[in-house]
Amino acid sequence: MELLDESIMRYVESHTAPESELLKKINRETHLSVLMPRMLSGHLQGRVLSMISRMVKPNRILEIGTYTGYSAICMAEGLAPGGQLITIDINDELEKRVRGYFSEAGLTNIVDYRIGNAMEIVPQLQVTFDLCFIDADKENYSNYYDLVVDKMTLGGYILADNVLWSGKVLSEKPDKDTRAIIEFNKKVHDDPRVENVLLPIRDGIMILRKK
Ligand code: SAH
Ligand code: CA
Repeated sequence: MELLDESIMRYVESHTAPESELLKKINRETHLSVLMPRMLSGHLQGRVLSMISRMVKPNRILEIGTYTGYSAICMAEGLAPGGQLITIDINDELEKRVRGYFSEAGLTNIVDYRIGNAMEIVPQLQVTFDLCFIDADKENYSNYYDLVVDKMTLGGYILADNVLWSGKVLSEKPDKDTRAIIEFNKKVHDDPRVENVLLPIRDGIMILRKK
């Protein structure tokens, strides 16, 4: 299920700041040569991530689920001077491509790209974050939340992607990933440590502010 029909989506995109040439290239090359290109944030969501990041002006960003680097490059646009972005992905097959894109974006010294299981890497990070984007395996969304919530600065923001899961959160017989998303949405909604808004953008973005 797409939340917006195609013609209104075209209108929305044509009235949203365009993608940079590099982001356009990453979008195109991901669709041509990488498995599951639907996972890439894309034009509208990328601009939303960039805009949010520019509003937050984070000193440090954590991303769980790099994929081809599209969303990381978008969020890096809003980093405060001297800021840093740590991004984690378990898929080492994309490493060379993604390092190339980070280098083209001029982010080699700004992005700390780690290959491995985020469930193991996040607990080792001894720093705090002003912005976090959870976008890896849906099964672990609640676990990632538990791992990052205490690493967030007060007033920091956690974003979690795909929280509508193509509308499957309404399913009467949810599969495993859907159940994990439903559980995550309920957990954060009930957590008094954060204030939450479920933005119905693309596949649903949960935005959480650490109180
Ligand atoms: N954030 C990207 C898309 C991420 S797709 C964008 O918006 O463009 C999800 C990614 O999560 C995939 O690349 C997958 O390899 C990664 N992933 C899945 N399980 C993971 C895990 N346990 N640890 C780290 N990354 C994981
Ligand atoms: Ca996603």
